Amino acid sequence: MNSRLYCVIGYPVKHSLSPKLHNGRFKKLKIKARYFQEEVKPEKLGEFMRGFKEKYSGANVTIPHKEKVMKFLDEVAPEAKKIGAVNVIVNRDGKLVGHNTDVVGAIAALKSDVKIIKGQYAVILGAGGAARAVIYGLKNAGSHVLILNRTVENAEKLAAEFDCKFGALEDFDATNCDILINTTSVGMWPKIEETPLPNLKENLRAANKKPVVMDVIYRPKMTRMLKDAKACGCKVVIGEKMFLAQAAESFKLWVGKTPTSSGTPRR
Ligand code: NAP
Repeated sequence: MNSRLYCVIGYPVKHSLSPKLHNGRFKKLKIKARYFQEEVKPEKLGEFMRGFKEKYSGANVTIPHKEKVMKFLDEVAPEAKKIGAVNVIVNRDGKLVGHNTDVVGAIAALKSDVKIIKGQYAVILGAGGAARAVIYGLKNAGSHVLILNRTVENAEKLAAEFDCKFGALEDFDATNCDILINTTSVGMWPKIEETPLPNLKENLRAANKKPVVMDVIYRPKMTRMLKDAKACGCKVVIGEKMFLAQAAESFKLWVGKTPTSSGTPRR
């Protein structure tokens, strides 16, 4: 039997740890499969997806394709449909089915460090695919959500869909914030000195608040935003926790087994 092939589809995608993680797990479980990286420019997504079924058994989908990829699938699982973003594709006998495991990953990561209780105030930076999963999870947990984004129209659209408030990144004020989560790509390797909130430290000190701060970026582990928050005494949640939890769920969808190892791949 030929090896089954899997990949991560994104642009950029070189930062992704998925190939090392999943190839390591296939090897460990003696599954005949290989996992690749597919850098696909936004304007080439349709062309790439037309040849997908014949080659791949499944994929992860990352920045910036999580929403756009849905129109190339045969079916989207109900939760992924509600979230409006797909980060996992399963090829079931020639039928492409989309799922969202980011939501399980994000909430599992948060819950490992924080008690999520109804009525908490959450501020979400970003309005892309990752934001959709995080907002869906927090709204289900009963949080009040404020979405702040570079392009305010995108935040407004998401706020209308999920019944949240919205604004620009510059509007951030720590006064009403129990949980702060960055879902933008700002601060991601290689631009690790960047942060979506350059005035975070001043803002936290002025408000005398110490919210729990999470970053969904997992490379680097400690982003500039998390470093700033930690310097102000906040509890921080690293994106790697979410990454590992969503990856385990993806693996289960593809091969029907829970991976035995949850360790981070070495680079
Ligand atoms: P996406 O759908 O393309 O959304 C990107 C978001 O970042 C948008 O809100 C965009 O704002 C904002 N943004 C991009 N460049 C910016 C800049 N220079 N200044 C301010 N805002 C900017 O991407 P995504 O799929 O949500 O992924 C976002 C990040 O999350 C990536 O780093 C990805 O690796 C990470 N992620 C991690 C996990 C995990 O398991 N840990 C899971 C999912 C995603 P506009 O609307 O203004 O364009």
